[in-house]
Amino acid sequence: MTESQKAFEKLKTVVRGYFPDAPMDLIEKAYVFAERAHGKQKRSSGDPYIIHPTEVALSLAEMHLDLSTIMTGLLHDTVEDTGVTLETIEIEFGKDVAELVDGVTKLSKITFRTTEEKQAENFRKMIIAMAKDIRVILVKLADRMNNMRTLKYLAPEKQQRIAQETLDIYAPIANRLGIGWMKIELEDLCLRFLHPDVYQKLSDLVQKKKGERDKFIDAFIEQLKADLDEYEIKAQISGRAKHFFSIYKKMDRRKVDFEQIHDLIAFRIVVENITECYKALGVIHAAFKPIPGRFKDYIAMPKANNYQSLHTTVIGNDGDRVEIQIRTQEMNSVAESGIAAHWKYKEGRFGSNAKENVEWVNRLLEWNKDLSDPAEFLETVKIDLFAEDVFVFTPNGEVKELPYGATPLDFAYAVHTNVGNTCVGAKVNGKIVPLKYRLKSGDTIEIVTSPSGVPSKDWLKIVKTSRAKAKIRAVIKQQERDRALQIGKELLEKSIKPYGLSQSKIEKSGDFERLWKDHFEMRSPDELFIGLGYGRIFPEKIVEFLVPKDAQEKKLEQAKGADETFLKKVLAAAKRKTESKNAILVADQDDILIRFGRCCSPLPGDSIVGFITRGRGVTVHTASCTKALDNDQGRRVDVQWNRNTMANGLRRQVRIRILCLDQAGLLAVMSQTISACNVNISSANIRTTKDKKAIAVFDVEVTDISQLMKVTSALEGKKGVISVERVKS
Ligand code: MN
Repeated sequence: MTESQKAFEKLKTVVRGYFPDAPMDLIEKAYVFAERAHGKQKRSSGDPYIIHPTEVALSLAEMHLDLSTIMTGLLHDTVEDTGVTLETIEIEFGKDVAELVDGVTKLSKITFRTTEEKQAENFRKMIIAMAKDIRVILVKLADRMNNMRTLKYLAPEKQQRIAQETLDIYAPIANRLGIGWMKIELEDLCLRFLHPDVYQKLSDLVQKKKGERDKFIDAFIEQLKADLDEYEIKAQISGRAKHFFSIYKKMDRRKVDFEQIHDLIAFRIVVENITECYKALGVIHAAFKPIPGRFKDYIAMPKANNYQSLHTTVIGNDGDRVEIQIRTQEMNSVAESGIAAHWKYKEGRFGSNAKENVEWVNRLLEWNKDLSDPAEFLETVKIDLFAEDVFVFTPNGEVKELPYGATPLDFAYAVHTNVGNTCVGAKVNGKIVPLKYRLKSGDTIEIVTSPSGVPSKDWLKIVKTSRAKAKIRAVIKQQERDRALQIGKELLEKSIKPYGLSQSKIEKSGDFERLWKDHFEMRSPDELFIGLGYGRIFPEKIVEFLVPKDAQEKKLEQAKGADETFLKKVLAAAKRKTESKNAILVADQDDILIRFGRCCSPLPGDSIVGFITRGRGVTVHTASCTKALDNDQGRRVDVQWNRNTMANGLRRQVRIRILCLDQAGLLAVMSQTISACNVNISSANIRTTKDKKAIAVFDVEVTDISQLMKVTSALEGKKGVISVERVKS
């Protein structure tokens, strides 16, 4: 019998073991088909090619996966490496298998080590393929596993590349999907090829100390058994050396030598139910001294990949540290197979969970929507694949899992996007902390929000999770877009105004639509404005389109004349009859009838613009007021504050809104603070919100912007005050 026939026999035995009624003829057919398709092809080892797909299928069978997945294992390289088409696969083996083979073939075309951007884009494709059917990834992982096992036959540089890629991408994915044994084997194989000297040294040392270690393991198990027996806890106990890669990481992290690492051995205790887990823990902690800070309860708080277990490290009889894991049989099988368990054959049928929502995949897809830059995507995915986790609580006691180094902002975004976007502060265990505070497991976090809160660019430097990053970036992008739109609108007005044109004029004449739609081929006028705002479109090009070059000089002259006479006429009509001096100078005159826009109530010191209103003089708005920007820019006149009257104690009313904690006496404190700034309060109003906060609204009379700023900063400095803002409606 050839090697591949032997492997195939083993495959059939394994399948029969968990799936007694399996239609063996179908598996046989796939094997024969693949063998024929690969023909005389050889592996680098010199073996006939068919040995590879057979061993891949065997790995899949060892994971107790369904028939389609095993057949896909056998057929996975036929479309890529031989003349077989997908149509043939579908006709011979059905749609399910054809789709899986197609998915694996597409994944195989991905190479990760090109430019970073390409790599990220590829990674994204992989995730999307995965979301459609996780079995594709399981086949790909089994494929990579077999390639790693036979890596020694390849050239050294290829070994390095493939091992590094496996360590960067595939081992973390196996871990995330909860397939513990595969993660461990992949990592050890990577270490062997990436750091052969370290690997060799470790394996020599582990080998050398084998006798000593085995004696220790047997003795310790004996003792654990006796302790547990005393409390009638039935348990299976095993002990083995940790895998090389985890020893290597430990040595690397602690900068210690192998000789110093005592806790090389991990013991596992498998008991019947959760109660027994905690009972066993109690027995062990009574018998041995536990090391503080090393106990982890992943039963109450499972890891993201559903891993559950109790972990503790105790000091053994000879003073060595000993690591112990305690779990139930079911937890043990989840720890080994992870997501693969969903497709396992159990209770007479295969899991039909192919479409089951897997939280991790959903989360990946969610980021995917928000991230348009592939490099950003890879960076964020990498973070989430590698991060250690912290567990924190909401005020209601709900547990949130966040990566190590996460901040209250990450927490806020994990609760809800809106909570993140309006976050203005945070309390950890009842105390106010800065937003860059690093969360610790067990912290209870309360987020303070304000309706006027907005994300800032600096937050990107603070947050750790990709979700928060993506959401903040989205808001900032929108803000930048809005700003560009506004600037674009102003630029358009400014550049065509000298020719006697305005947006409304060219809108009426139809020139505007011709401009954005036909000339610049934009989908909307906003796109034109944004283009202008970002500087992608030059204002000169717009003038050129609206006013032909040879007519530009003439138009300029005409517009100037018309503008002057119009302004003169209106201003003359609006001359004030009274003697009192105006607070506003219009075109350097202080006797023009003026009104203040009620929308923005400008304050002395604000930058302002005026608009001529026929018969009613000039209305003054703040320069940033939306009304001002919407107004007919042809009626715009230059206005400025009259320095002479500003000194004469003119007071203007403004409204301020204060968000604060709902504390007794706070209103009194705020009133005193305002009065202390020499500012009159004309009305005050306070209401409480559901979340134990209060919103106070004051109408105050101030002389100018600097006095208002004095008031707001004085209020902001008061304990319990969260935010202060000037209300402009
Ligand atoms: Mn393959």
